[in-house]
Amino acid sequence: MTDQYEVLRTVFGYDEFRGDQAEIVAQVIGGGDAVVLMPTGGGKSLCYQVPALVRDGCAVVVSPLIALMADQVGALRQLGVRAAYLNSTQAPEDRADVERRFLAGELDLIYVAPERLSGQYTRDLLSRGQLSLVAIDEAHCVSQWGHDFRPDYLALGELAELWPDVPRIALTATATRRTHEEITERLHLQRARHFVSSFDRPNITYRIEPKKQANKQLLDFVRTEGVVDGEPATGIVYALSRKSVESIAAFLSSNGINALPYHAGLDKRLREDTLHRFLREDGIVVVATIAFGMGIDKPDVRFVAHVDLPKSVEGYYQETGRAGRDGLPSVAWMAYGLADVVQQQRLIQMSDGDAAHRRSQSEHLNAMLALCETASCRRQRLLRYFDQESGPCGNCDTCLNPPSTWDGTVPAQKLMATIWRLDREYRQHYGAGHLIDILRGVDNKRMDQLGHKNLSTYGIGDDLDANTWSSVVRQLLASGYLETRGEYGQYYLTEAGVPVMHGKVPQLFREDARGPARTRRPKAA
Ligand code: ADP
Ligand code: ZN
Repeated sequence: MTDQYEVLRTVFGYDEFRGDQAEIVAQVIGGGDAVVLMPTGGGKSLCYQVPALVRDGCAVVVSPLIALMADQVGALRQLGVRAAYLNSTQAPEDRADVERRFLAGELDLIYVAPERLSGQYTRDLLSRGQLSLVAIDEAHCVSQWGHDFRPDYLALGELAELWPDVPRIALTATATRRTHEEITERLHLQRARHFVSSFDRPNITYRIEPKKQANKQLLDFVRTEGVVDGEPATGIVYALSRKSVESIAAFLSSNGINALPYHAGLDKRLREDTLHRFLREDGIVVVATIAFGMGIDKPDVRFVAHVDLPKSVEGYYQETGRAGRDGLPSVAWMAYGLADVVQQQRLIQMSDGDAAHRRSQSEHLNAMLALCETASCRRQRLLRYFDQESGPCGNCDTCLNPPSTWDGTVPAQKLMATIWRLDREYRQHYGAGHLIDILRGVDNKRMDQLGHKNLSTYGIGDDLDANTWSSVVRQLLASGYLETRGEYGQYYLTEAGVPVMHGKVPQLFREDARGPARTRRPKAA
C-alpha cells in the first residue's frame, strides 16, 4: 500500500495537499466517514481520488453529472488511473466490459449515476467486488428543499446498511446549515467527521445593479470590465430562457464581442463545439442557460454576468463561483428588475409541486432578492446565508460605493394602505403598475371605470416618480412584506407586512434603486 503523499506526487503531480484535503484524505483512508463542504475550485475530487488509490479495492463515485463522466474518467485514465463509469448513455457491451473489469479487481474508481445505485442490479454487482469507499458528489442534491433535488439521491442512505464497513464521503460546494443537516441525516452520515471550508471567494468582486436596459448595460459591462490587459476576457452570461440566450448572443456578436449561445435546445454537435472553443480559446463569451458550466473546469473565467435573477442564492453562488478558479481578480455582475421577480413568482405559483414546495421556492427567491436589495456588504450577506460570519469585504459594490439610503417608512405605508383598501373595499388585487398609478393620482379611463379615484390613497404618492415607487415595491417584496399571486402578479400584504403598514418598522431603501431625478407631476385636476 502506497501512502497518500506518494499518490499525490506520482499520480497527480502535486507537492502538497490544500486546505482540508490532507485531513479529509486521512479520515477516509482510516476507514471513517466524511462530510465535505468546500467551495468550487477548492479541490474536492482529490479528497476521494487519493484514498481510492491508497485503499484496497475499487471506489464507487456517485455523480449526477452524467454528461461529464466520460471526461472525468478520461482525465483520470490519462494519469494512468484505472477508472470507468456506468450510466445510461453507454452501449450494453461497454457496460458488460466495465462490469467484468470491476469484478476482476481491475478498477480503482467506478463512476456511477445515482439512478443506477437505486436499482438492485447494480447494488448486487458492486456487492460482489471489493469496495474501497463510496464518494457521493454534489451531495446537496439529496435536499428536497434545495435547488437541485434529485429523487435518486434519497436511496443512497441505504448504502450505509448495505456496506457497513465501507467508508463514505459526501461532498458539495453549496450548503446552508439546513442542507448540511439533511445531507448528514439522509445519507446516514451520523458518525462522519465534518469538514467545512470557508465559502468565501475573495478574488470575486460582486456587483448587482437595477435593470434598466439590460442589453446596453451588459454590453457596457463586457466592454469595460470584460477586458484584461487590453484583451477580451473569457466570460459566461447567464439568462433564464433559450430565446433570450439567443438574442443576447446575437446582440453581443453584432457589437464585436466573441459571443456564442449555449442551451439544451441547440444541436448537440454545436454545443460540443461551443464548449470546446470556450475551453481552448481565449476571450470567448458564452451566453447560456444554467445548463452550462456544472463541473466545467476552466480556471480563467474572468466574469460571470446574470441578466436574469437566479432562482436562489445557492444557484447564484454556484454560477458566480465559476469565475476566477485560478484565484485572480474576477467579477460577478448582475442586473435585475421588478419584472424578473414577478415572473419568477408566477412560475412558482404555476409549478406542479405541493404548497410546501412552492413556499420553499418562494423563500429561496426572497433570499436572493434580499441579497440584491441589501445596502450592506454583499459578501457578508452571501456568507451569512451559508451560516458563515465575516466582516465587510471591501471588494463588492456596496463596500466600494456605499449606497446612500433614504427613509421610505411613509411611502411604504402609503403603498401598503392602498393594497389593503383595495382588498377591503373592492376585494381586488392589482399588479405594481396600477398600484403606482393610484398612488400618483393618474387620471385615465381605467381609473374612472374602476372607481379607484374614490380611494383615500388616490394621489397621495405624487411626490415620488414611478421609478422610485417601483423600487419601493421591489424592496418591500424583497423583505417579504408583500407577495404576489395569480397570473398577473397581483400584490398582497403578508403577515409580516402588517406592522410595516402601521409605520412600526422603519424602512431604509437604497437610493440608487430609485431611478433618475424626481419629477413632480401635477395632480390631475
Ligand atoms: P472542485 O471539485 O472542488 O470544484 P477540483 O477537484 O476540480 O475542485 O479542483 C480544482 C482545481 O484545483 C483542479 O484543477 C485541481 O487539479 C486543482 N487542485 C486540487 N487539489 C490540488 C492540490 N493539492 N494542489 C494543486 N492543485 C490542486
Ligand atoms: Zn463587501
